[in-house]
Amino acid sequence: MVCVLYDDPISGYPTDYARDDVPLISRYPDGQSVPSPKEIDFTPGQLLGSVSGELGLRGYLEAAGHTLVVTSDKDDADSAFERELVDADVVISQPFWPAYLTAERIAKAPALKLALTAGIGSDHVDLQAAIERNVTVAEVTYCNSVSVAEHVVMMILGLVRNYIPSHDWVRKGGWNIADCVTRSYDVEGMHVGTVAAGRIGLAVLRRLKPFDMPLHYFDRHRLSQDVETELNLTWHDTVEDMVAVCDVVTINCPLHPETENLFDEAMLGKMKRGAYLVNTARGKIVDRDAVVRALESGQLAGYAGDVWFPQPAPADHPWRTMPNEGMTPHISGTSLSAQARYAAGVREVLECFFEGRPIRDEYLIVQGGALAGTGAHSYSAGNATAGSEAAARFRRTGGGEVSE
Ligand code: NDP
Repeated sequence: MVCVLYDDPISGYPTDYARDDVPLISRYPDGQSVPSPKEIDFTPGQLLGSVSGELGLRGYLEAAGHTLVVTSDKDDADSAFERELVDADVVISQPFWPAYLTAERIAKAPALKLALTAGIGSDHVDLQAAIERNVTVAEVTYCNSVSVAEHVVMMILGLVRNYIPSHDWVRKGGWNIADCVTRSYDVEGMHVGTVAAGRIGLAVLRRLKPFDMPLHYFDRHRLSQDVETELNLTWHDTVEDMVAVCDVVTINCPLHPETENLFDEAMLGKMKRGAYLVNTARGKIVDRDAVVRALESGQLAGYAGDVWFPQPAPADHPWRTMPNEGMTPHISGTSLSAQARYAAGVREVLECFFEGRPIRDEYLIVQGGALAGTGAHSYSAGNATAGSEAAARFRRTGGGEVSE
């Protein structure tokens, strides 16, 4: 088994934490139960998503006679991932530090049976190739949807209220009220719309309702009348129609061929001048350079998100330096709280896989040579990994603290 995880902190794997525990959640808002493996070998609230955390899997897997290789080295042709892939039965990867499983890589892995995402969003796997090779693709649906929704709300408030530039004045020793507030507004009364009202999109709408923001959504499937009434939602039958009336737009759909490049120059041009765009879904859903131009011209007043393409983004990625941005690396779904759930979910899926029990339908994206479960509902067949080889540029451009 090959497990690709992000690097440990540059200060080393932590020995203590800011808090002693994380709240335990037994059910998600729609009633779905949280991951329920037979056992876990980790302490919730500890760092599990980095290389030394190993998702808490080593004891379980080695006791069962499996070989586990954990690495962060994933992008070059001679990376540890490429080397280990050739005899892997299972690949575990994360959206935050994606091991792009392209058709070429799937072809190099004749034993591969399961591509498991420790998180949500399996667009880093060529789903078409997985369908054709009969590789099961699964993810831990719902494990970090609320984590992301919280990040979206934070980013909307951060952009509209001009939080980060104002904070920068504090760090610089200034007291520049006017500099801070010439771009600062209240969200109250602003119209906000989500592209997709699935688990994250709906959680964002619920969280923004108390801010007295009129709420809009676009989705392929309409929410129930009860939910529309409860939240006083306006549904739009096209994205174009929705963005034309919104002050804030948040993107919460998966990346698949239908949504790739959805926010191109034309779509950005249909938004209200001075609108804010928050994208925690996937970088490829927006046109990278069109976003930069829209910020430079003022068509967008701000852009924030935590998803880039490729990942990790090279040091010279223009979103690192564009004006009025509120970017983070891809962290919204990997809080310590979320890690406990996705690590437990990975363990649950592996227990099912090795014991020949069915994987929960809601965790399935591809099975038996077709889209399945959540994949059949929310994805379309095809491939969204094109261009992922450029992720290797991160190390070459001196990104992070990683040397070549
Ligand atoms: P869900 O499956 O609950 O929701 C996805 C929604 O997107 C569904 O309502 C689906 O509609 C809708 N959708 C699919 N295609 C389209 C389309 N072409 N146009 C409009 N809506 C569409 O997933 P989550 O809400 O939990 O997650 C959504 C995405 O967010 C993930 O796929 C992932 O890419 C991203 N994500 C990011 C994270 C991060 O750390 N930044 C962490 C977790 C997720 P329907 O089913 O009605 O067809």
